[in-house]
Amino acid sequence: MRKQWPTKALFAAALAVSIGLSPIISIAQTAIKVPKNKYSVQDDIKLGNQVAQQVEHQFPLINDAASQRYIESVGRRLTAAIPPEFQHPEFQYRFKIVNASDINAFALPGGPMFVNRGMIEAAKNEGEMAGVMAHELSHVALRHSTAQQTKANNPWNQILGAGAQIGGAMVLGQTGAQLGQMATGAYFLKFSREYEKQADILGARIMANAGYDPHDLANMFQTISKQGGGGAPQWLSSHPDPGNRFNYINQEAAMLQVQGNPIKITPGFSRAQEKMRSMPPAPTMQQIEEAAQKGRTYNNGNTGGDPNAGRQNANDPGTSGQYTQSVAVPSTRLRQYSGDWIQLQIPSNWKEMPSQNSVEFAPEGGYGQQGITHGAMIGVVQVQGTNTQQAAQEYLDGVLQGNSYLQQRSGFTRFNLNGRQGYTTTLSGQSPVTGRTEVVTIYTAMAAQGQLFYVATVVPQDESTRYSAAFRTLLTSISLGN
Ligand SMILES: [Zn+2]
Repeated sequence: MRKQWPTKALFAAALAVSIGLSPIISIAQTAIKVPKNKYSVQDDIKLGNQVAQQVEHQFPLINDAASQRYIESVGRRLTAAIPPEFQHPEFQYRFKIVNASDINAFALPGGPMFVNRGMIEAAKNEGEMAGVMAHELSHVALRHSTAQQTKANNPWNQILGAGAQIGGAMVLGQTGAQLGQMATGAYFLKFSREYEKQADILGARIMANAGYDPHDLANMFQTISKQGGGGAPQWLSSHPDPGNRFNYINQEAAMLQVQGNPIKITPGFSRAQEKMRSMPPAPTMQQIEEAAQKGRTYNNGNTGGDPNAGRQNANDPGTSGQYTQSVAVPSTRLRQYSGDWIQLQIPSNWKEMPSQNSVEFAPEGGYGQQGITHGAMIGVVQVQGTNTQQAAQEYLDGVLQGNSYLQQRSGFTRFNLNGRQGYTTTLSGQSPVTGRTEVVTIYTAMAAQGQLFYVATVVPQDESTRYSAAFRTLLTSISLGN
């Protein structure tokens, strides 16, 4: 089950204030100095076009017309919001979706941008997705790829030629530009910390100009690092944190004006996310690379692709991301989890994955990019409903929207959660991750006016008896506040 709710500064954040947020001292926006560049704007365009052609040949793209229109519309909104002093009218910004599960995106010099399906699926709202795109656009607008080559003092023929570093956080395969030789692992050129900070600052500004909440750029970094599971997500290794990233983006964001209500979840975003989630599992970038090395191209049938290329269907056994991990049963030994706003007892072999207004608990193998399969999610969300039952229904609707395979199996019944009168209901359905029937039990109660406290336990049906004691302990041990 995935969490599906926009992150806002809520109850949990309010409780966390006591641990002290540093006051914003600076009042001026951070200045951006365009780095020195010995290449021409036309060089950027030429370079980007050359690489884009190869990417489009090599990577499976999602050709769903509605999703394609959607990503272009977000892209256009953002490019129109680039401050005039950083605009290059010659650049041709364009946007494609790559059918890869990794939470990643990349932009090439002169304008071509590729957003992975995994990134769209992971974003909590359109603002978070737009945040990554705005950051990427900023690298392009500031011409960071060729600026980095300028610094390295590389001649043009070297950067354009085979085997050399090329722009937009990309590197061609060691053995050159031949198709089938592109090593995805080596693709992502690390930008310098200075450039990263520039892309964050300009990205925040583009967000605000475009009508997004620039805080969502900061939030997306948390979403990405949280969903990375164990290893560092690839996007973060090519866009390293210059230090204090979350804070300085939020500080910059606090100085920016957004006209009207910032864009959060749009019908277009929900539809695109739903579409991505309804498709067969996407290959990873590594699988795409391995296929490419064998001269094959991933082709998902419904996503189009090169009909002449050798085929490897994403549903092939062994490449579909089918769930094969075994998950340890909950330990009967307990440990105390103490977060900023909640304390409770969990099995000692469960990990915690906290974010701003929620925390997830799961054993090794019980969670991944697609959410939790064994464990619990606890958090506070903002709701419109004023009474407890309306609020519970609202939360349930959000869960069902984000997890279309689930169905409500029982009506709401009253439940006492942490001394508060609340409601519980049970959902189930065939998990796209495990392929088995998943049981989700939701418990909700009002935390404060307009804020709903929820607990959702998740387990495959055939393992549920082994989890009941752990879930019961978790529920009865919760205390809020600190
Ligand atoms: Zn970056």
